[in-house]
Amino acid sequence: MSSSEATARAGLCRVGASLHARGYTHGATGNLSVRLEDGFLMTPTGARLDELRPERLSRLDVQGRLESGEPPTKEAGLHLAMYRSRPRAQAVVHLHGTDSVALSLLPDLDPADALPPYTAYYVMRVGRLKLLPYFPPGDAALALAVGEAAQHTHAMLLAHHGPVLAGRSLDAAADAAEELEQTARIHLRVGGRGCRCLSSTERAELERRFPHEA
Ligand SMILES: [Zn+2]
Repeated sequence: MSSSEATARAGLCRVGASLHARGYTHGATGNLSVRLEDGFLMTPTGARLDELRPERLSRLDVQGRLESGEPPTKEAGLHLAMYRSRPRAQAVVHLHGTDSVALSLLPDLDPADALPPYTAYYVMRVGRLKLLPYFPPGDAALALAVGEAAQHTHAMLLAHHGPVLAGRSLDAAADAAEELEQTARIHLRVGGRGCRCLSSTERAELERRFPHEA
């Protein structure tokens, strides 16, 4: 095993434990992946993110076939779809965060831009959140929908399910997932009260200065 793969395995376990410990996902929900030079590492099916073991992670080839480790998450299809549509994405984080799931249930969200630009860091790390309709977990149609949406954005929210975010690194994808969860919480507190957001000029300036790289 290369030293970069060993580092990637340790990183998946570290980030999984951190996200779980801080309540960004619960039980055995949520799954993470990183792109390798010759394939992918993913969290195994049924694995808790706070109990990941480097040697048990699922190693897939570039076609998505299991090479070693335990069978991958049943959401492997949506991870692979994200990588196929976004060649610069190096990691994908999918969580079942309470606040983003609650957000996905609200009526009258704009499916192309589901959260207002409340803060600069939301614009910089998430940008425009695409809301996808409900699909059963692991369904082939879900992976197809993620692949289609990923042509246009690295950030999406599956209705009744949870967010999917890609990044140039696992830490970047996890940061974006945390920012989304935080912003969903803000929206649940103040959304619908006609509160102020960043202006379209301020948002455009941030998008120019901090373009999304994954
Ligand atoms: Zn899921």
